Amino acid sequence: MDAKDMGADLDRILVTEEQMHTRLREIAAQIDADVDNTADSPLLAVGVLRGAVMVMADLTRYIHTPLEMDWMAVSSYGNSTKSSGVVRILKDLDTEVAGRDVLVVEDVVDTGLTLDWLTKNLASRGARSVRIAAALRKPECLKVNVQVDYVGFDIPDEFVVGYGLDYQQRYRNLPFVGTLAPHVYGAE
Ligand code: 5GP
Repeated sequence: MDAKDMGADLDRILVTEEQMHTRLREIAAQIDADVDNTADSPLLAVGVLRGAVMVMADLTRYIHTPLEMDWMAVSSYGNSTKSSGVVRILKDLDTEVAGRDVLVVEDVVDTGLTLDWLTKNLASRGARSVRIAAALRKPECLKVNVQVDYVGFDIPDEFVVGYGLDYQQRYRNLPFVGTLAPHVYGAE
């Protein structure tokens, strides 16, 4: 899917495909430099379904350090648009995290409540370390002081789609990050 497939539904592009890939290469190099190669087991990259599929696929392919991948699906209690911070695990990891260096890979940090809960959850399972990589972060929306070790791009407080992120399950397969025209939401 590309911009031309969206017609008038696309408002504007915030992060181009090229910008995202350039930044992910830089982040991957930082991760390569930061990973403790003396650890007993390789780095465990944990992708948060479904939004992080694209960033997980691209970021991990730029990382040279050996790693394993696993996935979690979580759902936030509360209304559909705002995170409550109370998280339910829909799909848990298949991997034991005790003693492992974990890299959580996330699409966007909005309030930070989901990641705050997730990092504490992984730490409580005995992870040796928990780092976070996120393709996007909305600094104006942060409600908790969650430390995101690797950030692709800081973006304004706007609802974005593409690069894994959906609106009503659509637009995840856009290669860039953009905003939708108001008429898509039924507004003018
Ligand atoms: P948080 O707990 O940080 O508020 O919630 C983060 C989650 O909310 C993200 O993983 C994502 O699923 C969803 N989210 C937050 N902002 C956006 C956005 O602009 N677009 C989309 N599609 N999802 C978002």
